[in-house]
Amino acid sequence: MAKESPPQQRSCGTMVVHERLLRTSPEYMAARARSETHAFQLAGRGWAAGRTGVTVIPVVVHVVHQTNAQNVSDAQIHSQLDVLNRDYRKTNPDVGSTPAVFLPLAADARVEFELATTDPQGNATDGIDRVQTNTVSFSDDDGVKAAATGGADPWPADKYLNIWVCQLGGGLLGYAQFPGGPAATDGVVILHTGFGTSGTAAAPFNLGRTATHEIGHWLNLRHIWGDDGNGCNGDDFVSDTPNAGGPNFGSPAFPHVTCNNGPNGDLFMNYMDYVDDAAMFLFTSGQVTRMQAALDSDRSSIGTTKPGPVTLKFFDDGGTFKFRDDPISLKFFDDGGTFKFRDDPISLKFFDDPGTFKFFDDGGTSPAIDPIKHAGLDKPPGTDQPKGPGSDVPVPQGPTIPFVLSTPHRSMAWTRSFPGAQRPGPGDYEAQLLQYEQLLDQYGRAQAAGQLTDEEASEAERLFTEYSALAEEYYQFVGGG
Ligand SMILES: [Zn+2]
Repeated sequence: MAKESPPQQRSCGTMVVHERLLRTSPEYMAARARSETHAFQLAGRGWAAGRTGVTVIPVVVHVVHQTNAQNVSDAQIHSQLDVLNRDYRKTNPDVGSTPAVFLPLAADARVEFELATTDPQGNATDGIDRVQTNTVSFSDDDGVKAAATGGADPWPADKYLNIWVCQLGGGLLGYAQFPGGPAATDGVVILHTGFGTSGTAAAPFNLGRTATHEIGHWLNLRHIWGDDGNGCNGDDFVSDTPNAGGPNFGSPAFPHVTCNNGPNGDLFMNYMDYVDDAAMFLFTSGQVTRMQAALDSDRSSIGTTKPGPVTLKFFDDGGTFKFRDDPISLKFFDDGGTFKFRDDPISLKFFDDPGTFKFFDDGGTSPAIDPIKHAGLDKPPGTDQPKGPGSDVPVPQGPTIPFVLSTPHRSMAWTRSFPGAQRPGPGDYEAQLLQYEQLLDQYGRAQAAGQLTDEEASEAERLFTEYSALAEEYYQFVGGG
């Protein structure tokens, strides 16, 4: 058999796995609806994330190898962990390559990863599980996740993030399982040549971003273009990511405008797009909120927490605008005329947009202005319009989302109101579930923009109940019950 060349274009099998689980797992659809409910409560209703600090997740890496080359070195594994710990804390130096208009969206995901030090039996471990296999190449069918099928059994998924590293066929770089799926297959799978930054890692996927992307799915993130082919109707259920057409590949030039999302276009430098490793730099605040929602719900049993980043505050002392000097994280300096911030990737809370970045004073009425809000409480860009002196702060404007309070879901009550009136097919259910998701997303965006009344919020919650019920009906319809 000819040796398979490393992929030249990103390909991820997560949605294939998602669709398979929708068809085969009794609990999965309902669990997905529950996940969306909690994500909505954090993103839409402004609930605070349960984990306020940084979550440290124990990782086990199962190296399933048929050849010596596939038996990746400890150094290659450690290089991958290093990448994850930069990307999920926004300490990756290349975040500065983000176009200035998008940089304010970049957020610290407040997640860190460490190789497990205790195995499921309580013994000391290095967190690396090496398994020899006769299987030449694995696919997205989960074969690598069980010893019985030539792979390695997972460690308990409620306590460890399982990462399988192996040979994958068909140009597949990796795949993940969203929260809410079977524990026996929970985790992410990464092609060994797309893993880490050394050893067998091969360009253009040799910067460790495949694992960053797949673990994003494992924490409930969707692809940024909404997984609707090249259409403009799909949604990643995150309010601060622009609506985009299809995936971007390679290393696109900014801006790439699709779906009327000009002038700034797609957020293709996001970890959840399909670009090369060297072209992706960030998660957004909205994505962080969604990941934190997963850590509060389906992933609530995993990891430990430690104190999070210190929040730098401003205060207005009544005429002279000052900073509170927080000795732990204060990093700005005065270069003798032009006041700037030092862009320290570890504690960067502002960005220095040369020439235009300014603070604004709300006119003296606010005794403490805290522009660095908790990620879970952040409003989408554009909702805080600066006033007063220095009001030319560049505030990124997200796409205008028309908020429609028509309630098409009422017409979906046919399943209960008119039993037998129609014989729905699976496509009808799927179309209705999609309508629910889109409507709920509109409610979420309206809530985030402060446009939702309590009554409408209650309506949104009723909608979730209906959505969950319909999801269960769908599952029973397709033969799961
Ligand atoms: Zn993916």
